[in-house]
Amino acid sequence: MTRKIAVLPGDGIGHEIMDAAMAVLACLELNHGFDAEYETAMVGGTAYDEFEHPLPESTLKLAKEADAVLLGAVGGYEWEHLDISVRPEIALLGLRSELDLFSNLRPAILYPQLADASSLKPELVAGLDIMIVRELTGGIYFGKPRGVRTLENGEREGYNTLVYSESEIRRIAHSAFQTAQKRDKRLCSVDKANVLEVTELWREIVTETGKEYPDVELSHMYVDNASMQLVREPKQFDVIVTTNMFGDILSDTAAMLTGSIGMLPSASLDENGKGMYEPVHGSAPDIAGQNKANPLAMILSVAMMLRYTFGELALAEKVEKAVSLTLDEAYRTADIDDGSGRLVGTKEMAQAVINQLNKLEN
Ligand code: NAD
Repeated sequence: MTRKIAVLPGDGIGHEIMDAAMAVLACLELNHGFDAEYETAMVGGTAYDEFEHPLPESTLKLAKEADAVLLGAVGGYEWEHLDISVRPEIALLGLRSELDLFSNLRPAILYPQLADASSLKPELVAGLDIMIVRELTGGIYFGKPRGVRTLENGEREGYNTLVYSESEIRRIAHSAFQTAQKRDKRLCSVDKANVLEVTELWREIVTETGKEYPDVELSHMYVDNASMQLVREPKQFDVIVTTNMFGDILSDTAAMLTGSIGMLPSASLDENGKGMYEPVHGSAPDIAGQNKANPLAMILSVAMMLRYTFGELALAEKVEKAVSLTLDEAYRTADIDDGSGRLVGTKEMAQAVINQLNKLEN
């Protein structure tokens, strides 16, 4: 059966990093036996300019029919004035909810070659390898009622609703336990069960689900403590599972531990392993079109796609190994360069990874 991949470059540096990812995939096809069909579509601001909506029906249809979606990034200065209902970023929320991508996997890995790039002491972060599993389609970002209302005394009041059903908690818990099984088998569930009833239920359901995974060691932590522990002793964690909003914040903290946002991939999965794969960073309008963007987060997102949707573990490891060897050879884009490396642009970095891939055995 042919694998179908929807390719959505998006805006800003999205096109440049997607070109890099496609070049890596072409190399995997040519020399490493990977086979897939690709179809490209517009998303984000570019799509708004053409279709007056950041997520056109045709793009959504393509994404729904594909086995996996590769997404560059969306957004940019020229679309900031738009009404929130048609801003480029709305496309991401639309894709996540329409494809039911409820499980967001965000690894924070610090390559030893880049240990000095972290704001923490190298000994605290060198070799860091955490996976944050964030619930992505529920919680306070989607809960209703929501809005801003005017009270009887004329004062305005903003309100949102934090809500999770048992089944929503259970499915993200399964996803997190299964992720932990593929790693060091330690899962820390982060909540605020001392204050919020909804996360008291979260803790109860995660604990109950854990009985099905006796090989995984489960612990619980309040979110305020988790944020402290992430910067105090980050290597204590293997897999963290948490709600949409807590995960949003904690995964950015974990990302910064690694020094460069240009190195971090992500996966958003549905119940059947279909996924959308994208770098954690945005469209970087400040460097767009200048061949300066680091393509490694996008290339590592391809590796995640190979692993989580297509089960091509050996190929995924090859891509990750090629990235690591490229860093060994001191190739650096500007965002990860401390002045001692070989400063290169997006295209040259991608080519360096491909050169390493070609040196690896089939
Ligand atoms: P950003 O991640 O685009 O950029 C932050 C900083 O990091 C910038 O200085 C940028 O040059 C740098 N940077 C980001 N990616 C890089 C890479 N691959 N290589 C080198 N440097 C890189 O975040 P921002 O500036 O807050 O947002 C810019 C636009 O992107 C906004 O419109 C925002 O809404 C959007 N955005 C989109 C996504 C997404 O598509 N998933 C995520 C975050 C922000």
